[in-house]
Amino acid sequence: MRILGIEGTAWAASAAVFETPDPAQVTDDDHVFIETDAYAPDSGGIHPREAAEHMGEAIPTVIETAIEHAHERAAAGSTNDGGGSGPPIDAVAFARGPGLGPCLRIVATAARAVAQRFDVPLVGVNHMVAHLEVGRHRSGFDSPVCLNASGANAHILGYRNGRYRVLGETMDTGVGNAIDKFTRHIGWSHPGGPKVEQHARDGEYHELPYVVKGMDFSFSGIMSAAKQAVDSGVPVDDVCRGMEETIFAMLTEVSERALSLTGADELVLGGGVGQNDRLQRMLGEMCEQRGAAFYAPENRFLRDNAGMIAMLGAKMYAAGDTIAIEDSRIDSNFRPDEVAVTWRGPEES
Ligand code: ATP
Repeated sequence: MRILGIEGTAWAASAAVFETPDPAQVTDDDHVFIETDAYAPDSGGIHPREAAEHMGEAIPTVIETAIEHAHERAAAGSTNDGGGSGPPIDAVAFARGPGLGPCLRIVATAARAVAQRFDVPLVGVNHMVAHLEVGRHRSGFDSPVCLNASGANAHILGYRNGRYRVLGETMDTGVGNAIDKFTRHIGWSHPGGPKVEQHARDGEYHELPYVVKGMDFSFSGIMSAAKQAVDSGVPVDDVCRGMEETIFAMLTEVSERALSLTGADELVLGGGVGQNDRLQRMLGEMCEQRGAAFYAPENRFLRDNAGMIAMLGAKMYAAGDTIAIEDSRIDSNFRPDEVAVTWRGPEES
């Protein structure tokens, strides 16, 4: 099976080809090709209008590159091919949401056009579930708890009775957005996360508010306190170190509580903030101490990418979970717990 995936919820105009003989597990014959064109604002953060303009310009090109790749694989007679002379892809999977409406609409329009061009089914993927499923797929874990630490979101998810349940989430801003707002305040270019990581290495811990309420967390107070600290003369490296230690300890605490409450012994990480080494180390140490397994996908599958859309699209396509064009409208607030999980066996519930 060969699936075209299209991602474009915010900054990444991305298309991928995922080929596999068995979408239920990683095999030696799996093949992933990802082409991404990233939007980088000249100043400030992500401007929705500029992001949509970038999406409109970049999406056709990344899709054509991925389709060319699919044609080459088909012509070379890859083992994952049905063997016929049909279309180079079996289905088109696209991110329906959550994300910026104007970007999502461009991606959905492109996905519908490609599905019609090759006369193949369309698969509508939840972007947050894709962040989770790429880790579950590549780790081979059965039923992990997932920490999604991305730009616009922060969720702890666990699976029960056919759905991913939101066990905990941010009460205000997404975790990456909080970091980016702080770095914007001090004049650093977007995205701020990698810069905070770099500066934190040379800093001394500076205390910031630690806000966990039950299973939920809040980042806006930390962001304001971090801005005030820098404005009042605390060295920026120390504030960066304080932000990392505080935010990542909060995420680790709630992840541990989710493992404890669900009885799960596997944790996977998803989302762009998950690329941070310190966060991965804290989660890894916590899991080791409680005898749980921890998996963080490679960076190219953590940040927004079409590979994860194609991988989940393959599972959904194999389960017959396709969508008619007339039902394929986007949903910019598409929550992970709205998705009926069709691709996992009933024994896993
Ligand atoms: P979502 O998946 O919720 O739509 P998004 O579209 O913003 O989020 P992601 O690629 O998941 O995209 O995450 C981007 C975020 O990751 C940005 O806020 C960026 O600052 C942050 N980030 C990237 N690298 C690092 C890092 N090394 N440390 C901390 N944060 C990072």
